[in-house]
Amino acid sequence: MIRLKVGPYSLRGTSLGGIHTAIQVEELGLLFDVGYFSRGFLSADTIFISHGHADHLGALGTLLGARGLYGKPPPKIFFPAAIEGPFFETIHAFQKLQRYDLSIDAVPMEPGDEIQLQGDLWVRAFRTFHSIPSLGFELFRRVQKLKAEYQGLQGHEIRQLREERGAALFEEVDRSEIAYATDTLARVLDHEPRILKSRVLILECTFLDARKPPSEAHKGGHIHIEDLLIYAHRLENEHLVLMHFSQAHSPEAIRELVSKRLPQDLLERTSLFLPQGRHWPL
Ligand SMILES: [Zn+2]
Ligand SMILES: [Zn+2]
Repeated sequence: MIRLKVGPYSLRGTSLGGIHTAIQVEELGLLFDVGYFSRGFLSADTIFISHGHADHLGALGTLLGARGLYGKPPPKIFFPAAIEGPFFETIHAFQKLQRYDLSIDAVPMEPGDEIQLQGDLWVRAFRTFHSIPSLGFELFRRVQKLKAEYQGLQGHEIRQLREERGAALFEEVDRSEIAYATDTLARVLDHEPRILKSRVLILECTFLDARKPPSEAHKGGHIHIEDLLIYAHRLENEHLVLMHFSQAHSPEAIRELVSKRLPQDLLERTSLFLPQGRHWPL
């Protein structure tokens, strides 16, 4: 289990390209992908599935079975509407095999869909660029912000104005908290410039050296670190979390390659979703 603290958020889970990816955000009670199961994930009642590859949803049956065992309510599962048919067939097949109810609260999403989660927390789905239909997810808070013309006023002045003008003092703004984009080409950063400013950007970076050059990485719909360098000066995130590395690179080699390649300013804001130690655990 990998644990990483980024700003106010605690991430835990695992991610190894082609093998398994599941990343829980503990504070928000949600899970990105279910390519792996851990009992700790039972506290996540909201699940986002990026696409239908087994390394991203292969452990869904285990998760649903365990939730049944613990008497947990049906989880809310957001997934690409493009895979709705086979997705439900998979759930039904698990139900037939287990012979008990594995119901879920299913929310198929199209790119651009926005749905309220809880309180001021929202999710927006966006298109990612992979070999099969896939989605990224942006979590944002819709908050009231003092309009620019009133900023700089003293507290008592704001209170007085609020009594006179009420809500007209404020405007609604979307504050992007976390964006998750895996199994995608880097062009997602051109199509979704909002995520360049997300507080935390969790982004795949599957390949890192010349053994799989960018042209080869792109054929599978993946990012090479060379691609990332092109966008480095545009990434304004407080925290960049790189994940979904290929097992062609050991954790030790990944740390070394990333620290050599990323510019210092970005490197200081970058965390690697990697296990401790030099090798991938068996
Ligand atoms: Zn993958
Ligand atoms: Zn994939």
